[in-house]
Amino acid sequence: MLRFLPVAFVLCAVLAAVAVAADPSSGPAARPTAIAAQVPSLPLPAPATPPPAQTAPEPAPATSTAPAPAPPRSAPRLRSRAVGLPYRGKLARGIPLAPESDDYVTWDPVRRDSPNRAWRTYATDRLVALVQRVTRAFAVAHPGASRIAVGDLSLPRGGDFGPQYGGLGHGSHQNGLDVDLYYPRKDGCECPPLRPSEVDQVLAQDLVDRFVAAGAQYVFVGPHLRLTGPHRVVQKLVHHDDHMHVRIPNVSRSVR
Ligand SMILES: [Zn+2]
Repeated sequence: MLRFLPVAFVLCAVLAAVAVAADPSSGPAARPTAIAAQVPSLPLPAPATPPPAQTAPEPAPATSTAPAPAPPRSAPRLRSRAVGLPYRGKLARGIPLAPESDDYVTWDPVRRDSPNRAWRTYATDRLVALVQRVTRAFAVAHPGASRIAVGDLSLPRGGDFGPQYGGLGHGSHQNGLDVDLYYPRKDGCECPPLRPSEVDQVLAQDLVDRFVAAGAQYVFVGPHLRLTGPHRVVQKLVHHDDHMHVRIPNVSRSVR
């Protein structure tokens, strides 16, 4: 019986993949409203821990006369992997950003409500940790400020995150390296600013600076704001007057 369990596991994975591929919400003819209703049936989150088949085998004792081996240590957790490119890629072993913390709250840009739906908040473990670290430091530096509203990251397995998932969709956000963060508002609302005049540009600039210092590859900001930074990193882009888009470098190839 046990011999068939891995086969059953693989079959489940294959069936899940087929189900995702057959999801009608990826069809270009689907209407956004209809798709929003289908969203809860979207791909389930990837398992939090890799299946046993992916763990490294325990080493054998050096000799048969050697003392009993030390208790087996748990195999190192496999890191997330950003596959391909941010605008043409996938995400392996991504993890979701928690819905909220003392320092941030997630925001659903389609429902315009908080928290965001979990399947919109997957990313590499590095990006999740970076968002947590930067928003923590921001909160410590500005104890009176509201929490940062974090928007979309990537889908559980990455891939196209276009308008079929509601709103304008994302041209990138495909391999777990991108995150949207709404600028702090002057009125303290933990929600997106509706116009540039509502943005607290001092706090927004500080948030940009912190992501630049943390190693962001790009920070895209709105053309109607006065946000600046190193030219190669901080760039103005349309549709970014209410949020900044942060992309981190892909280090998957150089790190296990
Ligand atoms: Zn974005």
